[in-house]
Amino acid sequence: MPLAVDLDTYAAQAEQFVGAMDREYYLHFAGHKPEFEIEPIYERHAGLFGRTVVDELRERLARAAPGDEARRARYLLELAVGGLLGNEIKAEEKALAEREAALEIEVDGKRMPYRQSAVEQGNEPDAERRAAIERARLDVLERDLNPLHRRALERSHELARELGWGSYREMYGELKQIDLGALEQQTAAFLRDTAERYRESVEPHVRAQVGFGFDRLRRSDLPYFFRARGFDELFPSERIIAALEQTLAGLGIDLRGQQNVRLDIEQRPSKSPRAFCAPVSVPDEVYLVIARHGGRDDYAALFHEAGHTEHYANVDAALPFEFRYLGDNSVTEGFAFLFEHLTEDPAWLRSVLGAGDADRIAAYTGFTRASKFVFLRRYAAKLSYELELHAGERPLDEMPALYSRLLGDAVGVAWPAGTYLADVDAGYYAANYLRAWAFETHLRDVLVERFGPQWFRSREAGDLLRSLWREGQRLDADELLAVVTGERLDFGVMAAEV
Ligand SMILES: [Zn+2]
Repeated sequence: MPLAVDLDTYAAQAEQFVGAMDREYYLHFAGHKPEFEIEPIYERHAGLFGRTVVDELRERLARAAPGDEARRARYLLELAVGGLLGNEIKAEEKALAEREAALEIEVDGKRMPYRQSAVEQGNEPDAERRAAIERARLDVLERDLNPLHRRALERSHELARELGWGSYREMYGELKQIDLGALEQQTAAFLRDTAERYRESVEPHVRAQVGFGFDRLRRSDLPYFFRARGFDELFPSERIIAALEQTLAGLGIDLRGQQNVRLDIEQRPSKSPRAFCAPVSVPDEVYLVIARHGGRDDYAALFHEAGHTEHYANVDAALPFEFRYLGDNSVTEGFAFLFEHLTEDPAWLRSVLGAGDADRIAAYTGFTRASKFVFLRRYAAKLSYELELHAGERPLDEMPALYSRLLGDAVGVAWPAGTYLADVDAGYYAANYLRAWAFETHLRDVLVERFGPQWFRSREAGDLLRSLWREGQRLDADELLAVVTGERLDFGVMAAEV
C-alpha cells in the first residue's frame, strides 16, 4: 500500500506543532499567562494525529530498514500516538492546568496558591503544619482535579485498545522499545536487595533534617527532608547563577554567550514549583525555567534543567527533527542527572562553591545518598504500580489501594492514596527516569576515569559531552552507552550508588 504520508512533510509539520506546544507550555507554567491554550494548537495541526496516520506510520515502521530509517519511523509513530491521545484529552489537560493555576488552599485561615503550597510545605519547620498543608492540598486534588485525571486516563486506555494494541502498557512498551517487564525485574531486584539496609542507612539523615525517625515520619515530612534547610549555608542563593556559569565555563561553555539559551529565574505567583526546560526550537531557542525555593533544591533543580538545556542547545541543527526533538528521553534525563549530581559532588562543592569544612561536606554527601535512596525506591515502586495501572487487567477502583501499598512499602511511610493518578506521568516516563539514573551512573564513571574527579573543569570532558549532545536523541540510552563505554545499561549499578 503506498503511503499517503510523506515522512519529510510530516516531520516538518510535526516540528511546528511541538514547537507551538512547548511555547505554550513555557508561557503558562513559567507564570507568564494564566491560560493554557493548547486546543487551538491541536486544531491547527489536527491532520497530524488521525488514525490513518497512526496506521500508516506503524506500517512504515514494520517495513523500515533497521537503523536510522526505523528510528525515524518509530519516533514519529510515538509522537503521532501521543498527539492523538493528547488531542482526545486536551479539554481535560487544559482544565487541569488552568484549575491548578487558579486554585487556592486554606490552612489555619491562611490562603495560598495550590501550586505554591508544595514549596511552603517543603520550607515549613512545623511537622503538624506540613501535614495540614498536605491534607488541604489532597482535599483539593481529590475534589477538583481527580475526576479530570480519571477521565483522561480512562480515555487514554480506551484509545490504546481502539488503535489495535492489547493495552496502554503494551502500546508504550512497543513505541518506546523498552522491555518494561525486564526493567521491572531489575528494579524489583533493587527493592528486594536494598530492603534490609534502607531504613538503617536513611534514618540518621531523616533525624538530622526532620528531627525524628521513621517511627514518626509521615509522607508530608518528605518535602522538608529533601529541602534539607540544614545545608542552606553550603548553597548561597546569590551565588547560584555564577556557580552555573563557572561550571559550564570549565567545560568550555560560555552561558552568557549562548544566544539560543534563555534563563527564566524570576518569581511569579502561578509559576510552576517544578523547574523545567522548554526546548521550543531545538537547538535555536531553549528556555531554562526555575522557581526559587532556597538552598540545595534550587541548585539541584537549576543544574538538572541546565543539563537538559545544554543537551538541546548543542544538538546539531542539521539533524532531522526526529533526532533533535524526539527519541529516548532517558538520554536527556541522563545528562540532566549528570549536572544535578555535580551539586552533590565533594570535588565540585570544594572547587565551585568553596566549601571547606570536610565534616559538613561528608554530612551533605551522606544526606544526598539517603535522599537518592528514597527517590530510587519510590520510582522503582512507581514503575510496578504503573505497569499494573496501564495493563488494564484490574478495575481502576483497586488502584488507589495498590498505589498506596506499593509506594508505602518501598518508601517506609504511610502513603496517601489520593495522588494515585496525579503522580503518574504519561507514557511511562518513570521508566525513562530509572534508565537515566543508570545511564548517568555509567557515564559519570567514565568521566571520572578519563578526566579525573574534577572532570567538570576539563574542556576535553566538555568536548566528549558536546560530541554526545550533537547527536540529539538519535540513539537510545543503551546504544549511546555502548558507544561511550561498551557497557550494557543495567539498573543493578544503582545498588552501589546508595
Ligand atoms: Zn529532567
